[in-house]
Amino acid sequence: MFDNLSDRLGDIFDKLTRRGALSEKDVGEALREVRRALIEADVALEVVRSFTDKVRERAVGAEVVKSVTPGQMVIKIVHDVMIETLGAEGKPIDLNAPSPVPIMMVGLQGSGKTTTTSKIALRLTRREKRKVLMASLDTRRPAAQEQLKVLGEQYGIDTLPIVAGETPPQIAKRAMTAGRLSGYDVVILDTAGRTHIDEPLMMEMAEIRDVAQPHETLLVADALTGQDAVNLAKSFDERVGITGICLTRMDGDGRGGAALSMRAVTGKPIKLIGTGEKADALEEFHPSRIADRILGMGDIVSLVEKASEAIDAEKAAKMAKKLQKGAFDLEDLADQLGHMQKIGGMSGMLGLMPGIGKIKKQLDAANLDDTIVKRQMAIINSMTVKEKRAPKLLNASRKRRIAAGSGTEVQDVNKLLKMHRQMADMMKKMGKGKGLLGGMMGGK
Ligand code: GDP
Repeated sequence: MFDNLSDRLGDIFDKLTRRGALSEKDVGEALREVRRALIEADVALEVVRSFTDKVRERAVGAEVVKSVTPGQMVIKIVHDVMIETLGAEGKPIDLNAPSPVPIMMVGLQGSGKTTTTSKIALRLTRREKRKVLMASLDTRRPAAQEQLKVLGEQYGIDTLPIVAGETPPQIAKRAMTAGRLSGYDVVILDTAGRTHIDEPLMMEMAEIRDVAQPHETLLVADALTGQDAVNLAKSFDERVGITGICLTRMDGDGRGGAALSMRAVTGKPIKLIGTGEKADALEEFHPSRIADRILGMGDIVSLVEKASEAIDAEKAAKMAKKLQKGAFDLEDLADQLGHMQKIGGMSGMLGLMPGIGKIKKQLDAANLDDTIVKRQMAIINSMTVKEKRAPKLLNASRKRRIAAGSGTEVQDVNKLLKMHRQMADMMKKMGKGKGLLGGMMGGK
């Protein structure tokens, strides 16, 4: 179903004649396909709605650059919004707490809780060189504690000795004590699951939580159960409080619909994904990879890259034209600073323009670290459009207003203006000089 989402979008837009900007009707048609595909993939309705709203907002009126098709343009927007919905960056398990760090694993029976527990233990042992103790708190299924013990022996990870007749909170307490006394860095508590959520299960989880005071409470959920997994996450979060999600069976046929909803509905990060039964089949969660997968096309990545390159190149060309006229205003500077923030360096749009290395160096030398860039952006954002386009207007009282508005000093405003003047001068010279920029514009 998701397989053809990109194709379907492409088809719709390829039929359209080219216009300057994407119209409401064009976008609406594509969004119908997006909506259908998301619903088929079991993405929660509320998430589908806010997702398509965001895409519409961004797409309607967006100019279609010459070098990409309208279809590619929309796919890029869908891709971007998807990454945002999934949570921009993967968050690893947080071990920043006094040892032994308690990690509590919760979830339904059969979701892969025990498997994931040992996968995480193995990972922390091998990659992070932590000493890990695992404990099964599942007293309901007779074989459960035994299963964890066997896995522990297999991977060379210690498990808490089984003592018959203890309650889950008692086991949790004993595990934490053993962890402390024997110098473990991490104690992972594998709790009991049920086939469905019920009150006794939630009470038991809350009790264990109170005893162990977990630093991380990770919900293990089966990606294939789609919408059910989302409701599960909601309930567990409300009753026990979770800090993150491990989505298992991402190697299966499910195409990530659950991932998309989980994050949006619970606001909790997906920390890890399970991609198989073997011990090493555990991966960090990368939103862009999942977005590619949801869009379901092998070459979606290159397509998106091509589209963004073309968009950048066209912007750069527009900028070059402006520079030739010697018209680099503060709006352009804000554009550049914003771009720098995004890519974390000066290799962005300016980098696309030949001969611009000198300016890049100057900016780098100006020690433009993140906080400085943020301050500069704040200053520019406190200006009116008129002021940005004509910095000459900035007299002393306007500067004072801008400094107050951006939480800076007048001397910061002056510094920024000086930097802008220097850049504008240099660009003007380059634009007129050896035709560097002119050359790039195809001699026009
Ligand atoms: P628990 O009842 O939640 O503890 O579930 P288990 O850990 O016993 O796992 C149930 C089954 O799912 C086992 O056969 C596991 O091998 C399998 N399993 C767990 N995680 C994954 C995964 O990411 N992918 C696949 N394909 N199978 C998994």
